Amino acid sequence: MQKLSGEASITGNRLPAAPEQAHPRVLILGGTGEGAELAACLAERQDITVVSSLAGRVAEPRLPEGLVRVGGFGGVDGLALYLVNEKIAAVIDATHPFAARISRNAEAACTRTGVPLILLARPAWKSIEGDQWHEVADFRSAAQFIDAKDARVFLSIGRQELEAFSDCKDTWFLIRVIDEPSGPLPQNHKLLFRRGPFSFEDEVQLLRDHSIDYVVSKNSGGPATYSKIEACRSLGIPVVMIGRPFKYASQPVETVQEAIVALGRILIDKF
Ligand code: NAP
Repeated sequence: MQKLSGEASITGNRLPAAPEQAHPRVLILGGTGEGAELAACLAERQDITVVSSLAGRVAEPRLPEGLVRVGGFGGVDGLALYLVNEKIAAVIDATHPFAARISRNAEAACTRTGVPLILLARPAWKSIEGDQWHEVADFRSAAQFIDAKDARVFLSIGRQELEAFSDCKDTWFLIRVIDEPSGPLPQNHKLLFRRGPFSFEDEVQLLRDHSIDYVVSKNSGGPATYSKIEACRSLGIPVVMIGRPFKYASQPVETVQEAIVALGRILIDKF
């Protein structure tokens, strides 16, 4: 086990060996602010062992407190095996609303192994007075809408779905990412390497500095990236808002506190 900082410890795909009467082990599927907050809250508890899992997409991730494992499990089979081998008592899926595959895998693996699953999903943003949203179902629809505009566009969707915009010919894009994108990019663009959070003032400045006509955003929900939506409202800039993919068959909880309560119920019932 490699100690990376005072607060986080990276484990491999095996957790440290547990004594016979070990505390229940809880797996957090993370990569979000909520996942990190949950890990920080649960790390204080003496009656459970918590391990957070990150996909490993970002080169230098912000590590949550406590035990952390990094990298995919190998689909439903790999995750199911991990749950059984590591004697996981409960899983909390705190992944991003647009990370649909890992959530579907978690539902399938937990159903197969009988491990209880808590889904944590922050509510989607809703437009309010002053917002000018054009809501679309997916990335391709956003690209089609925007390509007809001959405009200057701030593409604030991360780096995984940029390919959907690669055929846009008449649009200029400001693309904000944390790490270098790997797939095809639109012809006319400028890359901006920045990691949030971004203040309202910073977002207003950015939109003004680049004379942005439209912003393309995922409907991520939550406060962490909402300042760009507020900046658009204040400057009268339209937002092309991409709707969330289907993630869960079951009903999620919406806050970290609700997830902790749900975990408490599961652990009382089980032990
Ligand atoms: P995804 O499409 O749902 O998942 C693709 C594959 O990545 C999964 O099948 C799994 O590989 C692996 N994976 C994803 N999340 C994982 C986790 N927490 N721990 C271990 N393996 C994981 O996910 P994504 O959209 O690429 O997002 C990757 C991660 O970034 C997620 O954890 C998510 O919370 C975070 N994130 C995503 C976004 C976004 O917009 N998509 C934004 C912010 C943060 P195997 O099948 O091999 O297990």
